[in-house]
Amino acid sequence: MAIFVCDLHMHSALSPCAENDMTPGNMVSMALINGLDVIAITDHCSTRNCEAAILCSEFLKKEHGHAPLVIPGTEVEVAEGFHVLGLFPNVEKAREFEVFWESHRPKIKNRVEIFGNQYVMNDDDEVIEEIPYLLSTGSDVSMMELYDKLDSLGAAAIPAHIDKDSYSMVASLGTVPPEWKGRLVEVSRRCNLPEFWEKHPELATYHYIVDSDAHQLPDIADPGYSLKLPIDKNPNLDAETFVNALRDLMRK
Ligand SMILES: [Zn+2]
Ligand SMILES: [Zn+2]
Repeated sequence: MAIFVCDLHMHSALSPCAENDMTPGNMVSMALINGLDVIAITDHCSTRNCEAAILCSEFLKKEHGHAPLVIPGTEVEVAEGFHVLGLFPNVEKAREFEVFWESHRPKIKNRVEIFGNQYVMNDDDEVIEEIPYLLSTGSDVSMMELYDKLDSLGAAAIPAHIDKDSYSMVASLGTVPPEWKGRLVEVSRRCNLPEFWEKHPELATYHYIVDSDAHQLPDIADPGYSLKLPIDKNPNLDAETFVNALRDLMRK
């Protein structure tokens, strides 16, 4: 059992809405400075910057002896109109999900001047590609289909920022419906938790994480949210072990 200081929701320069200096190297370095043990890179509909962030973390670990563990993730919008985080055990499963997701989204050309750049980067923080199609669009995948898809890939499925008035499961459906099998949800950092649970007593027994949903470097959680999990904290902890612990929480 150990306590992990986490921020499992943040957007890199790949998300059109995020700042261009949200590079893999800057994000991992900021997480290290802020004392985070674990971060997840969760761009809209794409996982393309996760690998570079993992490599940056490995480099920092060699330099400093420790660095935040990077979980490959994404934030997607289901047909019901709200956001869900998918957190994967490895980059391969993340990419497999992305291929599936691509076939369920409209291909709309990104208008950079309106929405912003969508940069794929390497671990030297160099732009290696710009995604031409807008990433922040919805999909035709229902929440239950998404849950099953993520589950089949060994990923954690977490309804995002459920306290928010837009793009949240609670805003769309009034609550977390019993059909949704997961019992782990995310609330935003600005949420007044006592007030929120009072308004939604049916959710009081759910497990929750608190994340920054950072779109710019200063927003990366400081000091982060402490999550107690029945796994050891050691320099060799990998994403799969951490995600499996989240999945156990999800099913409890
Ligand atoms: Zn969101
Ligand atoms: Zn987000």
